[in-house]
Amino acid sequence: MRPPKIYSIDEHRIPTYKIDRQAYYVIEKLRTNGFIAFLVGGSVRDLLLNVRPKDFDISTSAKPEDIKKLFKRSCILIGRRFRLAHIRFGRKIIEVSTFRAGEMGEAKLILRDNIFGSPKEDVLRRDFTINGLFYDVGVQTVIDYVGGYLDLEKKTLRTIGDASIRFIQDPVRMIRLLKFKARFDFEIEENTFLALKENKTEILKSSPIRILEEFFKMLESGSAKNFFYLLTKHELLDLLTPKLSIFFKAEKHSYDLLKIVDNFIKKNHPKALDRSILISSMLFYILEKRLKTNYVDKKIFLHLGIISIDAKNVIDDIFKPFFHISKKMKAQIISILSNQFRICPLITPKTIKIRIPKDPFFDLALDFFDLRCQINPKLTNIYTRWREKFIDSHKKQRKFFKRKNAKI
Ligand code: ATP
Ligand code: MG
Repeated sequence: MRPPKIYSIDEHRIPTYKIDRQAYYVIEKLRTNGFIAFLVGGSVRDLLLNVRPKDFDISTSAKPEDIKKLFKRSCILIGRRFRLAHIRFGRKIIEVSTFRAGEMGEAKLILRDNIFGSPKEDVLRRDFTINGLFYDVGVQTVIDYVGGYLDLEKKTLRTIGDASIRFIQDPVRMIRLLKFKARFDFEIEENTFLALKENKTEILKSSPIRILEEFFKMLESGSAKNFFYLLTKHELLDLLTPKLSIFFKAEKHSYDLLKIVDNFIKKNHPKALDRSILISSMLFYILEKRLKTNYVDKKIFLHLGIISIDAKNVIDDIFKPFFHISKKMKAQIISILSNQFRICPLITPKTIKIRIPKDPFFDLALDFFDLRCQINPKLTNIYTRWREKFIDSHKKQRKFFKRKNAKI
């Protein structure tokens, strides 16, 4: 077996203080109990790129039961076929998985999870070379079986193993390829690129839940505009949701709200915006255009009831039949979108009456309107008046409940 390439601290220069304390603790505990344990995946990649990792995943020779025995009540085992250990530190979770082997050779969809393996096998089942590096915190070395270290230096995205086979086995990897391209702006290596072109229709065989989760992760990453641009350009979006793809291709301003969302998240936090607001930022212009063409231009009277129905239809048009949006999220998106036209109607009446509706999601609608103000600063004045009224009505409500509770 070819030995891996080892990079010492003099070469990789990952400062020890950047390694998460709890991840360090977990690795040390596994090691002192005789197991092999490495940091792996996104965290090693991000440390080498000098970006702050989102999470610190660990791969180990310890079996799930061994991990449970060591970490006792702070550890829960999840997953049915292939169990992972989640080790809890307050609200933070460190994910620990036993080294696994994959099915490298066969070009068919992988439907079941695989069996325990060696460290090398564990790396070979991963998606891209830049995600296939181990970091050994004990001796501070990066262990590289797949050439990921040099690919990171060359800013190259390359699948581990034959690109076509890897995409057919798990088509979500094509989405992940574009996610890393959007995030890091790396070049896609030639064979990987050809395999993406050849196998794009495979994407329809993969799990909608996983794809939607990657969409959300990207909407929370600060690089959503680039990501959806790439998904459109490489025609994956066209397969998953053709109407959204047409919108991104046709409208000049289609990415405007995504740009605002990206900036907001970069300045604040990945979870700074509710997921329903993130989705609304892609649907708002579609609904606005539909309302203008179907009602305003034809001089048909437009009321909020119609707008809500149209908002629901837009969600269905864009996401059905492939994706499933939960009932609660749908209700939130409908509220966010339709309330935009309550706050600022398409045909401005002579006087705007500011009346806060009894709508549990109205504050989300106001947050969304606030984002729109960054595109059109003329809206700021309207936003301020509604926000003030909203705060006011909440104060009144609180006073009312206080009085009522005092009486009881
Ligand atoms: P992010 O920063 O978005 O979390 P990540 O690379 O850490 O990116 P995760 O989804 O957290 O992505 O996955 C952790 C690791 O698991 C990856 O780095 C990769 O090694 C491996 N992995 C994830 N998804 C796949 C997949 N579909 N096929 C093979 N390996 C995968
Ligand atoms: Mg990760």
